[in-house]
Amino acid sequence: MLNDEEELRFRESAFAWIRARQLQTPFFTRDDLSRFEFEGKNHRLIGPYTGIWKVKALSDSAIAISTAYVPDGRKRPYEDGEGIDGLQRYKWRGTDPNQSDNRALRQTMRRHLPMLWLVGIGHVPGTTQQLFDARFPVYLIGEEHSAHQFVVALEEGQEVLPNGEPVAVQEIVKRYNERIVKTRYHQPLFRARVIHAYQERCAICRLPFTELLEAAHIRPDSQGGSAKISNGMSLCKIHHGAYDANIIGISPDYKVHVRDSVLNTFDGPTLQHSIKAMDGEGLRQIPTEKSSKPDRELLAERFENFRQAS
Ligand SMILES: [Zn+2]
Repeated sequence: MLNDEEELRFRESAFAWIRARQLQTPFFTRDDLSRFEFEGKNHRLIGPYTGIWKVKALSDSAIAISTAYVPDGRKRPYEDGEGIDGLQRYKWRGTDPNQSDNRALRQTMRRHLPMLWLVGIGHVPGTTQQLFDARFPVYLIGEEHSAHQFVVALEEGQEVLPNGEPVAVQEIVKRYNERIVKTRYHQPLFRARVIHAYQERCAICRLPFTELLEAAHIRPDSQGGSAKISNGMSLCKIHHGAYDANIIGISPDYKVHVRDSVLNTFDGPTLQHSIKAMDGEGLRQIPTEKSSKPDRELLAERFENFRQAS
């Protein structure tokens, strides 16, 4: 078994190893995550099937939790969610508190060890192999026995809702947690799932650089738009900006429309090739999975805005 210091060193090296790989590929298969080398030996950082993973030879604590990808509209095997304090929850394996994976999680919590959270965002195209987005470091900071779950912090400053504190204090903690969860969990998850569904390309121009891609909402977040893939489109920064500024509209038949005043403007090659030339073209990249294709009703609603603005 490793002592705390060795545990930290192992974990920090694993995080650094993943960070280096993220520069080349945004998402990982289970195979990719089973080739971490530490002091001359190969280690898996995710189980072959299960959600909770400990590096058996080294540790009685868990290194990773994972959440399987489930297409929108289908039910998950474990309904992880958020508590009233705004913090994320992660379900035990089964309902026995002494099951070895659950004990490993408890041990990780007690030792306050940083973990990986591997969140499924889709499949390798044409296969059933899951792809994961890696979040780290995350910490387990509480356990709720009756609900069979742990409380997950995405940042060190997150706390479990203090019991017995004045309501105003509880409210501050809750809002703080919700903001962190939104920026560290929900937004990156939406982006990852949407961009992957478009095979890491812009829907309008097929630009294939992940760094330049964003997940546009069709119905904006601020107007109650959901985080379903069908309420999103993968767009490059230029086309996302143009879409949000109503320079470009997308009709429910997946056609691109450019605002008249822009079509009548003459400028250099960027305007010509990136914007004006797209007028009347169909979307060039859309998801293959039916539940992920852009929702036509939402597009119609948004297209009405574009019409009124132009
Ligand atoms: Zn584009």
